[in-house]
Amino acid sequence: MKWSEWQQLSNLSPKEFDCGFCGKGIGTNHGYFHQGSGPSTRIYICTNCGCPTFFDQQGNQHPGPILGRDVKGLPNDIENVYREIREDIKNQCFTSAILLGRKLIMHVAVDVAKAKEGESFVAYIEHLEKSNYIPPNASKLLDYLRKLGNEKNHEIKLGNLVESERILGFIEALLFFIYELGGETDES
Ligand SMILES: [Zn+2]
Repeated sequence: MKWSEWQQLSNLSPKEFDCGFCGKGIGTNHGYFHQGSGPSTRIYICTNCGCPTFFDQQGNQHPGPILGRDVKGLPNDIENVYREIREDIKNQCFTSAILLGRKLIMHVAVDVAKAKEGESFVAYIEHLEKSNYIPPNASKLLDYLRKLGNEKNHEIKLGNLVESERILGFIEALLFFIYELGGETDES
């Protein structure tokens, strides 16, 4: 979609942000403003992909930026779930992101670290640790993940941005080491 084909674009004060549609960091002054609801209520058009991003009165970005990097060599099902986690965070569905994140970690533990199905989340984390899939200096992260695993099954703990970003960061590193870096070694 060509950004310049939006009609009657206004010249706004320039803004830099990461577009939630194409993932590019852009700077633009093209878009629309709303009369009377404060200086931050704006719609900016991405000059890369042409999609509109809305900034509310508090300056919050909708949709938010896509966090996490693309990882090469992922099996289809893992790639889909990883993308869903990133979409969840972008759309501020943090509880969903954390539940899916836990599911993906368990899946990877069974897939590569020879964990058995039906074990506890903490046991899966320990399998990954014993199989050397956890990077060094990750002890704080491990404590955090274990705490995340201590919730009882009938409880749903509401997630927030910080927690979702931590679990996404862990998954990104895990997937990168196992599938992208590991895949390259296999080919050489
Ligand atoms: Zn874009």
